[in-house]
Amino acid sequence: RPTFLSGIQPSGRPHLGNYFGAIRQHVDSLNEPGDHFFFIADYHALTTIRDAASLRTNVRDIAATYFALGMDPARASFFRQSDVPEVTEISWLLATCTGMGLLERAHSYKDKIANGIKPSVGLFTYPVLMAADILAYDSTVVPVGKDQVQHVEMTQDMATHFNTRFGEVFVRPEARLPVRDDMAKVPGLDGQKMSKSYGNDVWLFESGKPLKKAIGRISTDSREPSEPKNPDELVLVDFLKLFLGDEELQDWRARILAGGESAPGYGHLKVRLAEAMDEHFAAPRAKYEELMGDPAELDRMLLKGAEKARERAVKVLDRARMACGLR
Ligand code: ATP
Ligand code: MG
Repeated sequence: RPTFLSGIQPSGRPHLGNYFGAIRQHVDSLNEPGDHFFFIADYHALTTIRDAASLRTNVRDIAATYFALGMDPARASFFRQSDVPEVTEISWLLATCTGMGLLERAHSYKDKIANGIKPSVGLFTYPVLMAADILAYDSTVVPVGKDQVQHVEMTQDMATHFNTRFGEVFVRPEARLPVRDDMAKVPGLDGQKMSKSYGNDVWLFESGKPLKKAIGRISTDSREPSEPKNPDELVLVDFLKLFLGDEELQDWRARILAGGESAPGYGHLKVRLAEAMDEHFAAPRAKYEELMGDPAELDRMLLKGAEKARERAVKVLDRARMACGLR
């Protein structure tokens, strides 16, 4: 019986990349038989968020977003990472058998440094805590975006290192990507990976004027509409792909490629994108707003979600402690 597990950092409001790369997969996976664990990675977010009030708000924001998008507490444990403190101990056990070299190769760490984020030791060891998150529940399927595949591979390595020394304690997980490649890595407004911490993201429930403003920032060039262009080179088209039906998309692509009189300008495409996105999220946005009105209820739901998760993590930690001689 498979165990699905994944997480998201409350490092800001969830964006389109989080939705297409992760949240949607998580909600869809509830229809597959198995155990389902999804969590809000608040320990992880402490590497970037340094104020208590923002962290609490962000956690509720993510919870309300998931519930609004169909996360069902009757079929999944949906919880806060820090409500299962056992993962920090598992993370220590893994850290003792993980070479520095493994962590030094992490793309996500290198990307964050390149984006001007000052690293703490916690940011550097992030993949170890993430491995603990995965291994703590005997997870077998980890639905993530492309940027996290390397971290899941590192988790496999850490599990193997530990098991080689101490016996079969941890279960080896596999990453699962969205079927569509454009959803596995959604570009940001500037064309690089959309990230909460890069200032290039679009909040998935953005609407009205702020949405138009955000979409206005998608990077374009100064070529005239009439000039024929390769639609696959335009970040704007990557965004349109996420929301438009096939027929409409092919029509825009053909007109961009042909150029001339009937070719759309970038402004025109941006208006269409804003409209399609606004409409796509209209129903869950309303639900999200309603849920955000009752923070105490959100907190209660998260605590309830942690119960089964913690039960499982306690068992796995016991197994690990026993195997390495702590008991
Ligand atoms: P941060 O900048 O704080 O790392 P993030 O935007 O990268 O935030 P995470 O919370 O680290 O988001 O990731 C949550 C999930 O969303 C992961 O499964 C990750 O693979 C997925 N994800 C993040 N960004 C994208 C993206 N641009 N396209 C597709 N999936 C993404
Ligand atoms: Mg990230």
